[in-house]
This record gives sequence, structure tokens and C-alpha cells, in this order.
Amino acid sequence: MTVPVVGLTGGIASGKSTVARAFAQRGIPVIDADVLSREVVAVGSEGLAAVVSEFGAEVLLPDGTLDRKAVAARVFADPTLRLKLNAIVHPRVAQLSAKRLTEVPEGSTPYVMYEAPLIVENGLHHGMHALVVVAIEPSLQIERVMARDGIDREGAEARLRAQAPLERKLAAATYIIDNGKELSALPAQVDDVHAKILSRLGEQRR
Ligand code: ATP
Repeated sequence: MTVPVVGLTGGIASGKSTVARAFAQRGIPVIDADVLSREVVAVGSEGLAAVVSEFGAEVLLPDGTLDRKAVAARVFADPTLRLKLNAIVHPRVAQLSAKRLTEVPEGSTPYVMYEAPLIVENGLHHGMHALVVVAIEPSLQIERVMARDGIDREGAEARLRAQAPLERKLAAATYIIDNGKELSALPAQVDDVHAKILSRLGEQRR
């Protein structure tokens, strides 16, 4: 028996990390796919070697680390390149997340949260206990991407287009958290979803 996994997803800059922090504050361990995706291409990793052999040494910064901004700009402008990068990164992230899950001691937590932007796109939610989707209006998402990443509207829109539309994520959701409001609207929603997950887990055990 492994610890039940609850997925947490949503579009770019929808507030996944903000929501994940709120679950972590409630004692739930969070495995962040974004952190893992950095680990699998860390300096000296076999993942980084694979990226360099596909994209060339020009994607490396002078200190030998991956220039993530340069890679992002290239893959968001070219869907074929994006698939190639995904083929390198995704299997390695899947392997590492499975390893991290096995490291969570059984009985130490009612569930573990797996935060990732592409859960629905990759069909990962089918193997999970439940899926939480953070929802915001695309127009607000574009504003937050532009503000956070310092990119223009066109760049922000290209990043949104690279992901499945929100409707598809919502259709796969067990629970939805609306982050289109001020931050103070989050804690009550997180409490509610957390309680519902616990009760769902309890019912399944009975
Ligand atoms: P990504 O997957 O693109 O890294 P994310 O979905 O994890 O993003 P966050 O990093 O949590 O999203 O939030 C994106 C930005 O929006 C951050 O700068 C965050 O501080 C801000 N933000 C999150 N929620 C709200 C809110 N309710 N009101 C205003 N700003 C918010």
C-alpha cells in the first residue's frame, strides 16, 4: 500500500504553487513536478546531457546550468521542439516522482499532493485518488504571466496555447479552487477541499 496521491493542476500562473503552499501549511507533503523538472536537468545529470545533444551547447549558461529561459522561448515557439523536450524531461520526472512517493513513510500523512501543470494532458489523473484544479479566467492568467515573467502579451498567449484549455482540466477535476479572486479567498476554499479529500479517503477505507 502506498500513500494516496491527490493531483493539483491548473494553467500557467493560475496559482498552483500558491495553493500547494496552503496545503503544505496544513501538513500535506507536496511533490512539485516543476522542482523535479529542474532536478532531472541539473548540472552533471544524464538528463542535461540529453537536452544538450538535442538542442546544442548554446542552451547552456556560462556556469554550465541550463538556460531555461532560452529553452522555454524556443519550445514555446516550436511545437516539435516542445515534444522533443517533453520526451526527455517527462519520463525522468515520472521516475523521480515515483521514487519520491515511495520515500513518504506510510501512515505519516493521509495523502500526498502532486503539483504539476500537465497532469490532465498526460492522463496522470487516472492513477490518482483525486484531482484538484485551480481555475482562473484566461484573461487574468495572461495578466499574471506577463507581470510575473516580464514577457509581452503574445509570449504569454503562446504559453497558454501550449496547454490544454481550462475546460478540459475542469472536466477532469474532482475539486475546483477558484483563484480569480483576491488571495484572502483561498484559505477557506483550501480548508473545504482538504476536508472533502479526508472524508472521501475515510469513506473509501470503510
Ligand atoms: P506556474 O505553473 O506558471 O509556475 P502557478 O500556477 O504555480 O504558476 P503561482 O506561482 O502560484 O502560479 O502564481 C502565479 C502568480 O500569480 C504569482 O506571482 C502569484 O503571487 C500570483 N497570484 C497567485 N494567486 C493570486 C491571487 N489570488 N491574486 C493575485 N495574484 C495571485
